[in-house]
Amino acid sequence: MSERLLVIEDEEGIARILQLELEHEGYEVGRAEDGRTGLEMASSGEWDLVLLDVMLPGINGIEVLRRLRSAGNPIPVVLLTARDTVPDKVSGFETGANDYITKPFAMEELLARVRNLLRIFQQQSKDSEGADVLKAAELTIELRTRKVFRKELAIELTPREFDLLVYLAENKNREKTREEILSDVWGYDFIGETNLVDVYIRYLRQKIDRGFRYKLIHTIRGVGYMLKEPDA
Ligand code: CA
Repeated sequence: MSERLLVIEDEEGIARILQLELEHEGYEVGRAEDGRTGLEMASSGEWDLVLLDVMLPGINGIEVLRRLRSAGNPIPVVLLTARDTVPDKVSGFETGANDYITKPFAMEELLARVRNLLRIFQQQSKDSEGADVLKAAELTIELRTRKVFRKELAIELTPREFDLLVYLAENKNREKTREEILSDVWGYDFIGETNLVDVYIRYLRQKIDRGFRYKLIHTIRGVGYMLKEPDA
C-alpha cells in the first residue's frame, strides 16, 4: 500500500512539481491551497505525512501545525519555508515540526527527508507495539500514549521533547554527542545546527529536572549529554 502525502502549499507551481515528483516516487498525493482547507484535510487521519508551507493564505503554516498538535495529532510534518534562521527553526520545531526544509530546495533532498521521516515513524510505531513503557530512574515513559511521569508527577512534553527524552532514556548512562543526538533524534544530518540540541535540552531540563534535587540530565563538557541514573 502506498503512503499518502498531503501537500499544503498555495504556490501552484511548487505544489504541482511536488505532486509530480512524489507521485513519481510512488506516493499518493493530496493537495490543499490554503491553511484552513489544509488543516481540515490533515486532521482527517487519512495521511501518513504532511508537507506544510509556512506562508499560506488564511491560517499560516505554523498555526496549522500548532492546531494539529494541540488536537493531539502526531502526524509527521515537514515545514517548507523561505526563512533560514535558527530562531525560526526553533519556533517551528517547538510547535512540533518533525523536519524543516528551506526554499528553494533541491528535490532530491526533500525526497530523502520524506523517506527518512516515514521510515522513522514506521519504526517508532513498530517499537511501541513491542515495548510500552520505558523506565529510567524515577521516570516512566509510556511510548504508546506518549505520557511521561517523574515519580507520580505527569509531565507535558512537545513531540520533539518527547522524542529527545525517549532517545536519552534508551541510551541512559551513556554519553551522547550533540551530533549523535541531532542525527538520531532529528533524523537527518543537520550540520552546524547542534545548538538546537542545547535549546531542547534546556526545555527538557525545565520540565524533567526543575524542582528535583537529583538532576537526571547531565552535561558532558565538550561532548554532549547523558541521562544518568543516580546509582549508575
Ligand atoms: Ca506560500
